[in-house]
Amino acid sequence: MLMKTLGKFSIGLGDRFGHQGSAQLNAITEAAKKGIDITPVWNKSNREHNIIGTQPGDVRAEADMVTRKAGFTKPYFVDADHINLDTADRFLESSDFFTVDVASYIGKRADDVKINVFLRDAVKFTGKLKIPGISKPVSVTKDKITGIAEKYLFAAAKAREIYIKIEESKGRGNFITEVSMDEVPVPQTPVELFFILKMLGGENIPVQTIAPKFSGRFNKGVDYAGDTGLFAEEFEADLMVIEYAVKEFGLPESLKMSIHSGSDKFSIYPLIGSIAKKHDKGFHLKTAGTTWLEEVIGLAESGGKALDFVKEIYIKSLEKIEELCAPYADVININISMLPSAEVVSGWNSRKFASSLRHVPGNSDYNSNMRQLIHVAYKLAAEKMDEYFQLLEANEKTVSQCVFENIYNRHICRLFDL
Ligand SMILES: [Zn+2]
Repeated sequence: MLMKTLGKFSIGLGDRFGHQGSAQLNAITEAAKKGIDITPVWNKSNREHNIIGTQPGDVRAEADMVTRKAGFTKPYFVDADHINLDTADRFLESSDFFTVDVASYIGKRADDVKINVFLRDAVKFTGKLKIPGISKPVSVTKDKITGIAEKYLFAAAKAREIYIKIEESKGRGNFITEVSMDEVPVPQTPVELFFILKMLGGENIPVQTIAPKFSGRFNKGVDYAGDTGLFAEEFEADLMVIEYAVKEFGLPESLKMSIHSGSDKFSIYPLIGSIAKKHDKGFHLKTAGTTWLEEVIGLAESGGKALDFVKEIYIKSLEKIEELCAPYADVININISMLPSAEVVSGWNSRKFASSLRHVPGNSDYNSNMRQLIHVAYKLAAEKMDEYFQLLEANEKTVSQCVFENIYNRHICRLFDL
């Protein structure tokens, strides 16, 4: 059966206001010049569409337009990011990549019959589970497998329901299926991932990317917070689990890891790149809608009215901090006492405002708390969309340079050691 595939390396690009597709694509073509082929995937979640007031078709229109303009003839995709049964419909027409989010179903118990059927077959993995490439065999008891089945089997069945809904509309093989479980409080261990993949195979879902939750925090727009050594170990084990599961459970050859990075995970990008290279594996790295942050930086650099506009956004975000942060509570971590006051920021020049927001590790001006707050403050720009778009267009060159640099220099170069 012929199936659309992503290629070895792919990057998920978020573009909240739909103005930076060309700059993002430039980062992809720049990588290609250095011999790294990356498939661009434009992603936007239902949450972002609702806050800004855009439609999934807008993302498709932008992706088609920027690729046509650039003469980009390789594959690209439009990702319906984090959808479930309630939200899938509006994405069916325009997307060809679906991130089936089962997080909210995890922990709900499947019925006994289903659990018993799963256990009957899974019981052969009890004892010392030896996964090629993982040095230490893991001991697996029947109780452990039962616990995993009770936690994830219902979610796997829901993934099937959502998948079928998409397949009925798009046709088998005409879209990429991702299953995501990253937006939960507790990470999945490699052993859990192994049995989850067994469940997805059992449900006959042709999953091509799988997004587990890793240890540590993946706050939006800022660096990884956690033990990087532990992450590396877990990531490597997960890669081995995927390879084994593909053979064992009849999943697509092309199945690969999806890392929902939330952008800017600079301290682990070199690890992801080198571990994947060591095992000759690909990956999908999803970034968040951080083009918005780069737009704000570009406008700050542009000075004049553009600087005034972004200062005003920041000052208003301080007043509305609770409302703005609420939808993102699990994926940001802002130390309010480290946020500069409205009075202080009013007096800043272009350079100071831009360097406070721009994520350059080691730069003493860089303020990760301010960066996270601005990341969730895009709603304030959406309320003044006309003025915002005029400023973006008037300062396009500066802004698109910021977007390009963030994706190419700070993400791609770190991932691929360029
Ligand atoms: Zn995610």
